[in-house]
Amino acid sequence: MQALDSAQLYFSRAAAQLSLSDRVAALLAGAHREVRVQLPIEMDDGHLATFTGYRVQHNNARGPMKGGLRYHEEVNLDEVRALASLMTWKTALVDIPYGGAKGGIAVDPHRLSRRELERLTRKFVARLHEVVGPDTDIPAPDMGTDWRVMSWIMNEYNKFEGFNPACVTGKPVELFGIPGREEATGRGVGILALKLLDRLGRQSQKTRVAIQGFGNVGLHAARFLQLAECQVVAVSDLSGGYYDPKGLDIQALVAHAHQGDGTLRGYSECELLAGEELLHLDVELLIPAAVGGVITAENVGKIRAPVIVEAANGPIWPDADDQLCEAGVVVLPDILANAGGVTVSYFEWVQNRQHYKWGLTRVRQELDRALASAFESVWQFSAKHKTSLRMAAYMLGIDRVKKAVELGGIR
Ligand code: NAD
Repeated sequence: MQALDSAQLYFSRAAAQLSLSDRVAALLAGAHREVRVQLPIEMDDGHLATFTGYRVQHNNARGPMKGGLRYHEEVNLDEVRALASLMTWKTALVDIPYGGAKGGIAVDPHRLSRRELERLTRKFVARLHEVVGPDTDIPAPDMGTDWRVMSWIMNEYNKFEGFNPACVTGKPVELFGIPGREEATGRGVGILALKLLDRLGRQSQKTRVAIQGFGNVGLHAARFLQLAECQVVAVSDLSGGYYDPKGLDIQALVAHAHQGDGTLRGYSECELLAGEELLHLDVELLIPAAVGGVITAENVGKIRAPVIVEAANGPIWPDADDQLCEAGVVVLPDILANAGGVTVSYFEWVQNRQHYKWGLTRVRQELDRALASAFESVWQFSAKHKTSLRMAAYMLGIDRVKKAVELGGIR
């Protein structure tokens, strides 16, 4: 099973439920444009290295295409295709005027120096600037990329196309960024998790949480949920798992990661967990916030959490998802759960186009409003049509895109 198989399967299930015609389904399943570029750069020691980059622009019926840029050694065209289509359904679901796209470079960013990463990013923009832009396709951070990469993208794009900070989002606040963007995805995960717990009649004070991944998304989700009085008992990253049944000290973990190599390696104020142990803990809420495909048919039987919020994209393979559904586990799907990031990216884009700065309070209020509205639609739809939250989210998103395609017409 690959990310693309999973995205296609969920799409075809939702398309069948929506009774889409084969022709409309084929149109929505395919991508508007797919670009693959060769990226040769000079490394610091003078030797030549060549990388491969991708951008898939899935659908623009509802507006300019929007999606993150991922730097990871396993990035490939099929994965980017899958993630681009998820962006189309996600932007439609939270009802922001965008389509969906995704990009990536097959590279381990930790093996490159900062200057090499900058050269690679600038080369990527040099290859792509004609097909991206504020009214066409707007990149944003994803795994392995951050505000620094977004700053280089803006700077390089401006060299080719003229000043236009709305060409990319996730920029630093000092350089046309918006306050609250960095926390937005994790905060959104927290906001939605609380709404879901509330609907399920669960109290945050009695909720033990395990979070896989302590990067941008996992860290901010942990912070938010701890402030909301949940007990975050376990987190993990590439260095291992960290567990305290009485609740971890999130501030201490963040400080430890900042002082060291960015990971939690060496943190010793708690029990250590090996491998996948975090996924199998006896907790009320499990949040996979690292990579895709971590809950599979092989390990799903060991999952004990009754509620899962998919902060990462595609962390549960469909066969495992079916088993969780049958077992009564409630899963809040990725296209809703991690939509906080693209929502605040939209605010940043609006801010850049208006040349008017937004404050953090306004960003947080509008994020809360947008996510509350999307959550409510999905919850009601799921109850009315007796379907899972995932199917409800896909059906709502796909139906909005279908309507936009039909209204726009095809000539
Ligand atoms: P990141 O690179 O900042 O952090 C990823 C974290 O996962 C790191 O702590 C890393 O050590 C950890 N990790 C990687 N593999 C792991 C494994 N096998 N077990 C445990 N930990 C592991 O990435 P991020 O921006 O936090 O993104 C995380 C996920 O959220 C990705 O799936 C991404 O697509 C999704 N997402 C991110 C955003 C965003 O705004 N950053 C928006 C939407 C979705």
